[in-house]
Amino acid sequence: MERRRPSATASDVAVKTAAPQTAAPRQPAAAEPAAANGRGPRPKRGVPEGLWQKCDGCGATIYRKEAEELLNVCPQCGFHWYVSAAKRMEQLLDAGTFEECDADLRPTDPLGFRDKKPYAERIVSEQKRTGLRDAALTGTGMIRARRVACGVTDSSFIMGSMGSVVGERLTRLVERATAGRLPLIIISASGGGARMHEGILSLMQMAKVSAALARYSQAGGLFISVLTNPTMGGVAASFASLGDLCFAEPRALIGFAGPRTIKATIRVELPKGFQTSEFLLEHGFIDRIVPRKDLKSEIARAIDFCGG
Ligand SMILES: [Zn+2]
Repeated sequence: MERRRPSATASDVAVKTAAPQTAAPRQPAAAEPAAANGRGPRPKRGVPEGLWQKCDGCGATIYRKEAEELLNVCPQCGFHWYVSAAKRMEQLLDAGTFEECDADLRPTDPLGFRDKKPYAERIVSEQKRTGLRDAALTGTGMIRARRVACGVTDSSFIMGSMGSVVGERLTRLVERATAGRLPLIIISASGGGARMHEGILSLMQMAKVSAALARYSQAGGLFISVLTNPTMGGVAASFASLGDLCFAEPRALIGFAGPRTIKATIRVELPKGFQTSEFLLEHGFIDRIVPRKDLKSEIARAIDFCGG
């Protein structure tokens, strides 16, 4: 009786229709990308969800595991893919040395804001989806046996935008680095800038973090800012640009407003790729482009060089 259910019949048909195409010698790994590009019904059996990923840099379908071994960098074109905040800490810090700070800070909804859905609901769903409390992860750890204060923003949590919790966590991180005389590393991956859901409370975070960084600088601290894809808006306009050293990952999108907004405002044709790491390096806005695989050793070297 079970076999006659409509869904079972439909999937049987789909498999049967596609069978003649794949009946020829089937090559398990190399043949898959081509099959994925084909249209029409195709068998999905044996291919777990998320095994392949389309590269935003070159458009090729990449075996995800191969990219993961390269720290989430495309093996074909070198495009640097998204890395979650937790993964970033893992990549950057010596194994088992990360100690999270201020983990209990949680966002609230002081304005009762809603766009497509209420902000309070959005917070809960983003927390469930990402496993983060908010868009920043901060703490201390070791980079090649050098103790550092380290913060990361995560673009998957409401575009990595800076609300009160992100601002407060980063400010406390800077203050902790000042008190402990630790080198400070902040890796920015924020496509959203200030978080409009919190209105002026999010805008004031720019000033708050920047003021803490000024005190840190006066105390002689070394701040290395690492800009990754994307770093935009109020994040780019505050702490991310205030590093004593500003590193960027290759081909990262870095800027303030999006290209269409700027074009509509100033009515001037914009140079191609003007919001990329390469363009900004050429124009003296950042100090160095560092591929992800070299980031840890370059930061350790910079700390030593600056006497941190
Ligand atoms: Zn690629």
